[in-house]
Amino acid sequence: MLSTMQDVPLTVGRILAHGSTFHGGSTVATWNGESAESRTFAEVGARAAQLAHALRDELGVTGDQRVATLMWNNTEHQEIYLAVPSMGAVLHTLNLRLPAAQLSYIINHAGDHAIFVNGTLLPMLAPLLPQLEPTLRHVVVVGPASAESTALLDAFTARGIAVHTYEELIADRPTSYPFPTDLDERTAAAMCYTSGTTGDPKGVVYSHRSIYLHCLQVISAEDFAITSADKALPVVPMFHVNAWGLPHAAFMVGTSLLMPDRFLQPEPLARMIQAERPTVSAAVPTIWTGLLGELDAHDYDTSSLRRVVIGGSACPPSLMKAFEERHRITLVHAWGMTETSPLGSFALPPGGLTPEEEWPYRLTQGRFPASVEPRIIGPDGTPAPHDGVATGELEVRGPWIAGSYYGDEQLSSDKFSDDGWLRTGDVGTISPDGFLTLTDRAKDVIKSGGEWISSVELENHLMAHPDVLEAAVVAVPDDRWGERPLATVVLRPDAHVGFADLRAFLAERVASWQLPERWSVIESVPKTSVGKFDKKVIRAEYAAGELD
Ligand code: ADP
Repeated sequence: MLSTMQDVPLTVGRILAHGSTFHGGSTVATWNGESAESRTFAEVGARAAQLAHALRDELGVTGDQRVATLMWNNTEHQEIYLAVPSMGAVLHTLNLRLPAAQLSYIINHAGDHAIFVNGTLLPMLAPLLPQLEPTLRHVVVVGPASAESTALLDAFTARGIAVHTYEELIADRPTSYPFPTDLDERTAAAMCYTSGTTGDPKGVVYSHRSIYLHCLQVISAEDFAITSADKALPVVPMFHVNAWGLPHAAFMVGTSLLMPDRFLQPEPLARMIQAERPTVSAAVPTIWTGLLGELDAHDYDTSSLRRVVIGGSACPPSLMKAFEERHRITLVHAWGMTETSPLGSFALPPGGLTPEEEWPYRLTQGRFPASVEPRIIGPDGTPAPHDGVATGELEVRGPWIAGSYYGDEQLSSDKFSDDGWLRTGDVGTISPDGFLTLTDRAKDVIKSGGEWISSVELENHLMAHPDVLEAAVVAVPDDRWGERPLATVVLRPDAHVGFADLRAFLAERVASWQLPERWSVIESVPKTSVGKFDKKVIRAEYAAGELD
């Protein structure tokens, strides 16, 4: 028997309509380096409607055409975020830190029809032109651009690509739009390519339904727990897995948004937090490491922040504790991937515990929500028990988990199990009460003489040393053991610590056979386009004899 319930599609258009009316007074503000310029959700909704008219009538966007953005987190980006999927087209956020070859690859792969680009980023777009396919028909410049940058667009015009400016494009158009209300919720709303930490970027296409359901998770008490009383600061870029769902979720519940634009360095971030008083925020550990240094060195008022979500790579426990103890800021650890929308697990401890008892839970990658079903596949290829001990590769499934990659069937078959689960490439354990502890990425684990050494564990211990700013540990070939750990460390400017001291420090914390014999002091850990440790680069530098 079927239910008696209405079958109403879950769409981004519904989120836009709700946010811009019932939460019309909430705001999206963009930081300009000195102050924040804001628009109400009602204004953002009106401008999104104007943009939809322009997309349809001027840019000829129809059906599921792809509309790309090469932009910072700002109010205009939010308008595009909501307008494009609401009219039935597909938003493609471009990662502005990808190398040129990968950027042009994904623009062509997605078949982008138009690109919206911040004026400040034109010098990044222009060199891609020779590699771009003729599918690209329009470039829309958003925000101010220097005369020099604007001149770069002549080459686009010469190739028959129309160039527009955002404000002129949307000016004088109607402020309401007949967004379709009967879109199939399973159709594509947005796409995002993985950042390529471990290979070529792979395209994940989110549906209206997956975004909507993921939004419900973002706002829930077991995640960001945002309401109309909050102001969210997505430091995580809107091109990094939809800023972890915050732009959509904010419109669902009326949470005001504070957008940092291009001011992502520790000092402007700290000033912005003090001046604009956001209540929640989200970013990868490297951002919070930088901010911690700034907050330690100067006196800022960051008391507005009640929950800061940290994920994208393992959060060093020392970082979490330092924020808590020195700045009374609670960092909540979360795990996710581009393929998981991204919220996969969230590390809120169970109730009724003392702060000391909470720590072991908070340091895990977190507990899975009902909609993300996990399993650990052990070395024998079968599911291992959730006993907090049995280790294996994490696989997940659920309504906001990717089931394939865009236009890449061969790859898809490798990354998904025969019964359709996503193979995450992450290795760890799951406790009986559903908490995930990752020991490593399968590709980063150090296989030494038949035993596995967790690079993350060694890094976390090293980064707890007062003289160590950052540490990255990678596997390097070893004649006797197959692989051994190489520890690369970034020392604090005034540090006087030697490798023997660091080794002794580690020896108190891990088994002796795990202790690295190879050490190198580096100036900074190479980072990927989304700020994660880039271990590929370290391994290559070692192989080239560049690390002593
Ligand atoms: P890429 O795979 O290109 O880096 P993603 O941003 O999708 O792009 O990365 C997802 C991966 O990031 C996960 O598979 C995992 O290895 C890592 N990751 C994310 N969050 C955490 C976390 N809290 N702890 C450890 N690793 C994490």
